Amino acid sequence: MAHDNHDDHGHEHGHDHGEMSHLDAMEVRVRALQSLLVEKGYVDPKALDLIVETYETRIGPRNGAQVVARAWSDEAFMARLREDATAAIGELGFSGRQGEHMHIVENSPDTHNMVVCTLCSCYPWPVLGLPPVWYKSAPYRSRAVSEPRAVLGEFGVELPSTTRIRVWDSTAELRYLVIPMRPAGTEGWSEEKLARLVTRDSMIGTGLALDPAGLDA
Ligand code: FE
Repeated sequence: MAHDNHDDHGHEHGHDHGEMSHLDAMEVRVRALQSLLVEKGYVDPKALDLIVETYETRIGPRNGAQVVARAWSDEAFMARLREDATAAIGELGFSGRQGEHMHIVENSPDTHNMVVCTLCSCYPWPVLGLPPVWYKSAPYRSRAVSEPRAVLGEFGVELPSTTRIRVWDSTAELRYLVIPMRPAGTEGWSEEKLARLVTRDSMIGTGLALDPAGLDA
């Protein structure tokens, strides 16, 4: 959470540090490994495809949107999220790799929260899926801290000058989910309908929940 402890950032997961060449080299290694494993009969290519598809389609920001919609609708759930977000999110069936230590941060008119991983790309996979490319980029990782308001502006988010912006630094130990403010005019909405207002970026803090007026009936 603080920006002064990069030394104990503690990444046990291997990841890139923003270099495209590094990514390309990684991809080559992954492909080589995959070919070898399939060739030797150790893994079924269909099983591999399923894992990839799972992260690309089944595990994604729609999961987080369900968490937010439940939080907006159910005070007891919100209380459990504040107490132990990992367990509360687990109630909805979302758990696993890169989401073992979840923490929520709540937006209000006074405070807007934004999440970054200054060192690399730590991100809450079970609720948001895989991180977008910009999240892993060096400019976002540095500027989210040094000039968060300017970065928000580039995402089209203009906040009142009285709103404080807090930036949270993800680590392998702690992954943040932003609970955006519930838009006005959504009283009585079902969780399913509310979830449609919750974008990926609103849960990273680089966006806001959508305007209900813009939602198709
Ligand atoms: Fe990281």
